[in-house]
Amino acid sequence: MGLVNILQPQQQLQQARWWEPEPGEKVHCYLCPRHCHIGEGQTGFCFIRTNRDGVLYNLGYAQPAALQVDPIEKKPLNHFLPGTRIFSLGTAGCNMGCFFCQNWDISKSKHDQVNSAHLEPEEVVSLAVRYGCPSIAFTYNEPTIWGEYVVDIAQAARARGLNTVMVTNGYVTREAFFDIYDHIDAANVDLKAFTENFYSKITLTHLEPVLEVLQWLKQETNVWFELTNLIIPTLNDEAQETRKLAEWVLNHLGDDVPLHFTAFHPDFKLRDKPHTPPETLHRARRIALEVGLRYVYEGNIFSDGAHTYCPSCHRILLKRSWHSVLENHLKNGACPWCGERIHGVWENLQGKTPVKPRATAASVQ
Ligand code: SF4
Repeated sequence: MGLVNILQPQQQLQQARWWEPEPGEKVHCYLCPRHCHIGEGQTGFCFIRTNRDGVLYNLGYAQPAALQVDPIEKKPLNHFLPGTRIFSLGTAGCNMGCFFCQNWDISKSKHDQVNSAHLEPEEVVSLAVRYGCPSIAFTYNEPTIWGEYVVDIAQAARARGLNTVMVTNGYVTREAFFDIYDHIDAANVDLKAFTENFYSKITLTHLEPVLEVLQWLKQETNVWFELTNLIIPTLNDEAQETRKLAEWVLNHLGDDVPLHFTAFHPDFKLRDKPHTPPETLHRARRIALEVGLRYVYEGNIFSDGAHTYCPSCHRILLKRSWHSVLENHLKNGACPWCGERIHGVWENLQGKTPVKPRATAASVQ
């Protein structure tokens, strides 16, 4: 349901975190690996972090451009409170330049080009409670670039027993990573391809920083996370690339991280590419299962690859149709037929997620 029209627009100017002053009233933003050096009166690549008189401000703070109640399967998260609703919001702007962006109307907009509402963190949480959502998602555009707002909402959410979810491209520096993810319960991270060529030419960023963030998530936090790989015909659909991606996930993140292969539809600057054929997703899923990943999904198509199967006895544990959960046979997080434990968060965390200690200054690279 769309909610934005019940709210009154109002301008807000919030000083940013994760920046340092530079000579000549410039500022250096180190929130994401772009490391923008921003002149007075200008914005960074993401359009919503702006230098006013030598101070960096976040124009997205308390200014959501999209508000919606979604099924959590739409994020996609299949192993985190399945079948629940999630209060979802996003702002203008993005720190990547993906030619295939499917939310380009807000992600490629400047702050003053979208119809933003004014919503303080506590108001976001109150709306989530009012709409019966146990979780809040930071999504639609890249939430890292409005990390100050994310952190304040997440803290308010935990105080009220709600969970928070980042739907992210994983393009964040180590300096900001723990400041944000200490407050987050779950994430879906886009692993958009497995070649530097794709990242540099099609997203205008780099692959390696995303792989580093995935390893920090696995090794240094308790955030539950799943991966999404949008497969685009002719650009990242080679079987060999899929195999390398799956092998990297297995070797660096483990076999229990769910991997979603999703179908592309022509959009934004990639309208000359066809829809992803279902067979391409079926093949990718077969490859990832062969490699040894235990939970591999197909998304944006109707498919038996949307269900959660027990990796031991192979029976369907959660039966889905698109974003709906039709059957849930899990018993205490395990297969009711063979007892295999299924990785995931199956009960509401109620804001009590144990969080590993933040890295010490010495460990920050
Ligand atoms: S968050 Fe925005 S301003 Fe900061 S470095 Fe990234 S793109 Fe540049």
